[in-house]
Amino acid sequence: MQGTCPNHWKMLSPTVTEFYPDEPPRFEERFRGAHVLQRDENGLEKCVACFLCSAACPSNCIYIEAAENTDTMRISGGERYARVYNIDYNRCIFCGYCVEACPTDAITHGHGFELASYNTSTLVKRKEDMLAPIPPGPKPSMVTACGEVAKPQPV
Ligand code: SF4
Ligand code: SF4
Repeated sequence: MQGTCPNHWKMLSPTVTEFYPDEPPRFEERFRGAHVLQRDENGLEKCVACFLCSAACPSNCIYIEAAENTDTMRISGGERYARVYNIDYNRCIFCGYCVEACPTDAITHGHGFELASYNTSTLVKRKEDMLAPIPPGPKPSMVTACGEVAKPQPV
């Protein structure tokens, strides 16, 4: 008898209708959609190219090429940044292991879900497709190890 209570509660609660695609659908916060590569408050990329996400990925669908930040060109807050960061959505199962593995919270799941395509080559998303925009507002200049000043580099 107790087991029927949730069903009765559901039957009596108001009906919720989604009007997608005329209106954007609502998502729970924890919905795992297309990935977002995050930036810090200074606009620098959070990814430091440590490869932990690709090591954790059970589908082997993350491809990264690392490069060093220099005194004149700083892309991330760490020593290295991801020069190339691809996710192959032909293979991704949206398990979230990459997000769990990331030590800098650089990769997160967004709410993007309209990924279907007749052309599988378009399902390989590049870093430029996934990068969060530079946050608005004035950005402090970053002083490098040599005392030079470098601004965040737009992609
Ligand atoms: S969500 Fe899972 S399958 Fe997709 S890239 Fe991350 S670890 Fe790999
Ligand atoms: S997204 Fe995170 S775990 Fe993956 S390479 Fe960048 S910093 Fe490392």
